[in-house]
Amino acid sequence: MAVAWLDDVRSTDIDNVGGKGASLGELTAAGLPVPSGFVVTAGTYREFIEDAGIDEELFAAVDVDHEDTEALREAHERAHELIMETPVPDDVREGILSAYRNLGDGERFVAVRSSATAEDLPDASFAGQQETFLNVQADALVERVKECWASLFSQRAIYYRNRQGFPHEKVDIAVVVQEMVDAEKSGVMFTSHPSTGESQIIIEAAWGLGEAVVSGSVSPDNYVIDRESGAVETITVADKKTMMLKDEATGETIEQPVPDDKRSIRVLSDEEIEELVELGERVEDHYETPQDVEWAVHEGEMYMLQSRPITTIDEEDEASAEADATAAADADGGSANGADDSESDDVLFRGLGSSPGIVSGEARIVTKLDHLDQVGDGDIIVTEMTMPDMVPAMKRAAGIVTDEGGMTSHAAIVSRELGVPAVVGAGSATRQLEDGQPITIDGDKGTVRKGAEPPEDEFEPIEEARPKTPVKPMTATEVKVNVSIPEAAERAAATGADGVGLLRTEHMVLSLGQTPTKYIEENGERAYVDELVDGIRTAAEEFYPRPVRVRTLDAPTDEFRQLEGGGDEPKEHNPMLGYRGIRRSLESPDLFTHELKAFKRIFDMGYDNVEVMFPLVNDAEDVAQARNLMQQAGVDPTKRTWGVMVETPAAALEVESMAAEGIDFVSFGTNDLTQYTLAVDRNNERVANRFDELHPAVLKLIGDTIETCRELDVKTSICGQAGSKPQMVQFLVEKGVSSVSANIDAVRDVQHEVKRVEQRLLLDSVR
Ligand code: PEP
Ligand code: MG
Repeated sequence: MAVAWLDDVRSTDIDNVGGKGASLGELTAAGLPVPSGFVVTAGTYREFIEDAGIDEELFAAVDVDHEDTEALREAHERAHELIMETPVPDDVREGILSAYRNLGDGERFVAVRSSATAEDLPDASFAGQQETFLNVQADALVERVKECWASLFSQRAIYYRNRQGFPHEKVDIAVVVQEMVDAEKSGVMFTSHPSTGESQIIIEAAWGLGEAVVSGSVSPDNYVIDRESGAVETITVADKKTMMLKDEATGETIEQPVPDDKRSIRVLSDEEIEELVELGERVEDHYETPQDVEWAVHEGEMYMLQSRPITTIDEEDEASAEADATAAADADGGSANGADDSESDDVLFRGLGSSPGIVSGEARIVTKLDHLDQVGDGDIIVTEMTMPDMVPAMKRAAGIVTDEGGMTSHAAIVSRELGVPAVVGAGSATRQLEDGQPITIDGDKGTVRKGAEPPEDEFEPIEEARPKTPVKPMTATEVKVNVSIPEAAERAAATGADGVGLLRTEHMVLSLGQTPTKYIEENGERAYVDELVDGIRTAAEEFYPRPVRVRTLDAPTDEFRQLEGGGDEPKEHNPMLGYRGIRRSLESPDLFTHELKAFKRIFDMGYDNVEVMFPLVNDAEDVAQARNLMQQAGVDPTKRTWGVMVETPAAALEVESMAAEGIDFVSFGTNDLTQYTLAVDRNNERVANRFDELHPAVLKLIGDTIETCRELDVKTSICGQAGSKPQMVQFLVEKGVSSVSANIDAVRDVQHEVKRVEQRLLLDSVR
């Protein structure tokens, strides 16, 4: 069976219909009005290449040196040619066309969209960027499906899969064929406020096809509805100059002026708003998380074209919602809608606001295939995902926008530490923006606007707005800071933090551009140890005498694979569960010993503020072995402060026996602890809505561990991303954590949060 109808597709079919197909199937099953359509399954593509016998030639053609641009271009051309020139078997062609005819009478226009399936591969989204075709009819349908198949072998996709060592044969592609909705009006709807998470439904609406609203080429009307009461709170009617329409003759989408009598009237009636709100609530109930919905109206019928979770809401935003609302009211004389007005005007698209600040500059589209020297001072880097070797360019840049990645991605961590505003996980920024296009990004709200005009309510970058020598609230619980790149140590120290709660060594190593083994092979052991010593010393010096907790290496093999020499890294099906952290160190004690020797040198130099921390331990056995190797390398565990990360449920449950091995502290790595407790991949955007560091199970492990550690006189801390979240801070302080370590930009807020909770606890105890 070449096709599966959306009516029959469910989320469990994801392997055969891809993410897009599965999500449309779910919405259809939930009884929501989704335009009808079907999926040409991944199995069909697979059979096509296998039955035609082109599979082996295809995979061999793309097995090229990914750094060789010419070879990549040829590989892409050969793969494209192989697929396009191989005829589709008659039964498959007929299957697709007969499904098309079943959509209804006449020559219907359909959208043809790729829906890749590679969910079992980490970072499979690298395979992304496949084709979409609008307004397709029967004559071109099968060709368009083939073009979607061929788009699995774009230069970029080949490049990434080769570099990551992903087998090409493990990535498949399905194609969604769906009726086009010839919309009279359309827009987007957020079922909760996209940046504050408030219980409001925000609807944006314009005349004509939805592309206009989604791409930001027209200012839409804006409707804000209070979800509790259902009341329409504000209506902002925009002057809608243009609209997108389908040209009846060519089927192409064209832009036209809006007729005068429609320009400044409301797009949506009260009844339509009601209908949309009801649909929005149903979608949100179905997914149990706020959604960003694309909708359209055709001949009075409401359709839902797409729904995805709103990624911009997080707890930090929720906590600051109140403050923002007050600021907005102050700025525009009390209209609660002020912030939305300025935001909705020119927003091109949204991602996750991952490093605060508003900046404008020219978009500089960077792929690894390009030269980074194109990035000039003040440009905004736009890239699929940042790599360690991009750090020098990231330092020059005014801002960073990425297609991929979450709040703990390389781009998010490094940009925060460099103090460069960033929006990550913005979907298709590299395709939506043009090189040289002026844009303004907001690293708090996660918006990318067109134009280089910062909005009127622009605030100064954090450093300028805050006093140079921060007046730090006195707290009994220490508030520390996380550092991943030694270059950020100075900024980190200027926050007034009580020390470094986590200095990651991975970034020092990744920035060498070679795997440790390769680096040592070419430059010798001494040079490798020197590099580590330099990085650690930069932070230790900057903070002296405040403590700096340095963690031994914890880079998963897929990160090492990006480096020169990475080809020798073991290929792992699931690197997050594999050869990383202390388990790798104990398996290859040679490399680990180099790291330990770096510590020995640091201590010999007199930096007695440095502490040693071991990642990803599971039990007392891991701890004892690591401690013994440290002792053998000349670092006396009884004289130095050392401890372990609690990043697995096993470590949390085994803390008592680990404490008996002599550790001074444990630090909760909530990025991993959450991932391993909930079985949710921290790097997989598809399950990001399930990644909840405040989940009761995670909190129970943390709370019980703190309790045990307090009895045993072992200090406790947190150094995962959640240490920057007010709710987590509150929970930890109430439980009696010894310290909290936050991101540079969050230190100040965490200091105040800690102070507030401590004062409340004190008051409660005397009242
Ligand atoms: C964590 O897991 O929370 C952590 C701090 O370590 P990393 O993010 O480097 O895995
Ligand atoms: Mg971790």
